[in-house]
Amino acid sequence: MTAAALSDTLGRQCQIVLVESEAIGTVGVGEATIPPIRNFNQRLGIDEATFVRETAGSYKLGIQFVDWKQVGQSYFHPFGQYGAEFDKVPFYHYWMRENLAGRLPGPIDEFSMCWAMASAGKFAHPERDRRKIQSTFDYAYHFDAGLYAGFLRRYAEQRGVIRVEGKVERVARRGENGFIDFVMLDNGETIDGEFFVDCSGFRGLLIEGALEAGYENWQKWLPCDRAVAVPSSKQDAITPYTRSTAKAAGWQWRIPLQHRTGNGYVHCSEFISEEDAASTLLAGLDGVPQAEPRFLRFVTGRRNKFWDRNCVAIGLSAGFMEPLESTSLHLIQYGILRLIALLPDTAMSPLLAQEYNKQTTAEYERIRDFLILHYKATEREDSELWRYCRSMSVPDSLQYKIDHFREYGLLVSDERELFSNPSWIAVYLGQGIYPKRAPAIAQQRDHVPVTDRMSAIRAAMTEAVDEMQPHSDFIARHCASPLTA
Ligand SMILES: Cc1cc2nc3c(=O)[nH]c(=O)nc-3n(C[C@H](O)[C@H](O)[C@H](O)COP(=O)(O)OP(=O)(O)OC[C@H]3O[C@@H](n4cnc5c(N)ncnc54)[C@H](O)[C@@H]3O)c2cc1C
Repeated sequence: MTAAALSDTLGRQCQIVLVESEAIGTVGVGEATIPPIRNFNQRLGIDEATFVRETAGSYKLGIQFVDWKQVGQSYFHPFGQYGAEFDKVPFYHYWMRENLAGRLPGPIDEFSMCWAMASAGKFAHPERDRRKIQSTFDYAYHFDAGLYAGFLRRYAEQRGVIRVEGKVERVARRGENGFIDFVMLDNGETIDGEFFVDCSGFRGLLIEGALEAGYENWQKWLPCDRAVAVPSSKQDAITPYTRSTAKAAGWQWRIPLQHRTGNGYVHCSEFISEEDAASTLLAGLDGVPQAEPRFLRFVTGRRNKFWDRNCVAIGLSAGFMEPLESTSLHLIQYGILRLIALLPDTAMSPLLAQEYNKQTTAEYERIRDFLILHYKATEREDSELWRYCRSMSVPDSLQYKIDHFREYGLLVSDERELFSNPSWIAVYLGQGIYPKRAPAIAQQRDHVPVTDRMSAIRAAMTEAVDEMQPHSDFIARHCASPLTA
């Protein structure tokens, strides 16, 4: 992604060398995304149907969270708004008012166009006309990470990127300022440069191995530190959403692709062994396993400095939180766009690094808080992990938001928040954090015919979804992968 985006922006004026090692390989997971990936692809001029076909991808309308609040309960985090705006007050204010007054309008999921489509297994692109209910949702993709990487590698090479196969064995620094001078490969070849982007994954070969930028550990809030992943045979109906099922010591993902289903159990090593995690994962598959389980280890947190001297870390080398809300690829893409916006010249002003680090830290922390909310807001007491999460203290920035929501149902969000109000509403309500009273503004508007409007919204959703094609048919018609032939 970095080489592709830089080559697209900088053209051949700047020589970009991409060093990769097939012997080391990639982490090989990372298959679910969030809607901003569409902007990234569009910026690169990538046609959507080509992209979905080439990556054996599918469409994603949100995430179904199963057993997170309590075993047996589920909710949906949609990529879109709830209901439709029919007044000056957000729809969910009215929903909370009605709910608190005992005039149960139905679960909030029932007012999400994404969930209406997802639960029916349907897909269509959103419409532009904001008066239509079909304009109230957004979408992202699931895809095969290896195929996406190959696709972007070809893209980058066509734009002049030179790819070098080899293993970096040494990183040399300049004596006068500690900048990285060159990297040396296992065959003795050296590659020098003015600027280095460390995309070496968890190793952080340059940013940590050479520059020792340091790491802020977030395990006390995001305690999972292992994952075991396995692909399974595809299902006939490709569901247009990710599923996340809470388990005793973590949670299991299910990501439907055209040619297979991706599965993994993210877990906490303090509460389960890797072997038991693998058995739990295999027992919870809805298809036949297609490979041996792969084990991954990580430490949640972020680099103290993402950009240090003439090196910026992008990807897992910069930090890792949780795949829970599919934010890693997004952080990569925004890291790249931020680098492009703050592109250094040979003067390499430290102010650029300072600003990059400031913005990136804030973005990581905003996402971190949203992820922690999922762990904290549980009513489960059936295992050590969930008992720990229920009682753990959370960052002040998150506690502040929870307190405001609990008190009077208002969302106090930073306007740069990646996850906007409906996302927070989904997790609060889905996991049992309810306000004591509805926002005052909704209580002042008794004259608005809310019940009628809600019924009309529900009817419009049903009608719209009835007209849509099954997701699998949509893919077969517009972007079928040759791998399914
Ligand atoms: C369990 C799990 C699930 C995830 N799920 C999601 C998800 O659903 N959605 C999402 O957005 N993200 C997800 N992620 C994150 C996502 O996988 C990564 O952000 C993404 O794959 C990018 O990884 P990377 O390129 O930084 O690192 P890697 O994939 O590890 O790539 C590192 C690269 O550096 C090269 N390299 C390393 N050392 C050397 C060396 N010495 N010499 C030469 N080359 C070297 C390797 O060959 C490789 O090409 C998940 C991560 C994990 C662990």
